[in-house]
Amino acid sequence: MTRKLDYLLDRNVAWSLAKTRDDPAYFRRMAEQQSPSYLWIGCSDSRVTANDVLGLDPGEVFVHRNIANVVHTSDLNILSVLEFAIQHLRVRHIIVCGHYGCGGIERALSEERSAMVDHWLQPITMFHRKHRAHFDRLSSRTALLDRVSELNIEMQVRRIATMPLVENAWSRGQDLHLHGWIYGMHDGLIRDLGPHVSSIEERDALPSIDQRVFHAEEPASGLRRHALEAFSSLKLTDDLASPSCCMPDEH
Ligand SMILES: [Zn+2]
Repeated sequence: MTRKLDYLLDRNVAWSLAKTRDDPAYFRRMAEQQSPSYLWIGCSDSRVTANDVLGLDPGEVFVHRNIANVVHTSDLNILSVLEFAIQHLRVRHIIVCGHYGCGGIERALSEERSAMVDHWLQPITMFHRKHRAHFDRLSSRTALLDRVSELNIEMQVRRIATMPLVENAWSRGQDLHLHGWIYGMHDGLIRDLGPHVSSIEERDALPSIDQRVFHAEEPASGLRRHALEAFSSLKLTDDLASPSCCMPDEH
């Protein structure tokens, strides 16, 4: 059994050569300075890698990941990431992106309480317990996990929006926008869940996360948005082609 991971180093050489072949200045550019516009806060799940699902190159997105993309306001790791991203990189967008089929969410809703991860997931566990009567009415276990996954993202965006780091950026007039997304493992598509928050006023106008439990909205992927837009323009064209179809009879 090999103790070295030579096959991974070989893959790295192949990747580096391919990059240089396609773009000889690629690594010279990368070595100079990173200036990403986005901070991605995602799950550690190996199947959801920010650059891949967004189609972005290295250097274009600053990344923080942990189990179930939880934002603990006492977590030095995420606080340091947020401070660097906001104050030094001056990212314009912070995206919290979870995913359907998240093992962290499943664990948070289980009865298991024996590992460190159960401390980490405690806010999700407590949120589920608080609204258990409502969640128990969902049609299936999958529907429950999906809904809690969505609400978890909304909850984390709200937490970021209350952080002094973020409030101070908004008070300084910094252009900073928060987004809540969820990724579908089954189709590779990201859904825009919201909330979208760009100021203290917008944050304060948000309904509470407890209210959101009772008002589910169907999250829309970019593909669905394109389809709806195409349908709208088609409908408009039809209306123009036969303007009398829906008009009241004037005779
Ligand atoms: Zn996950």
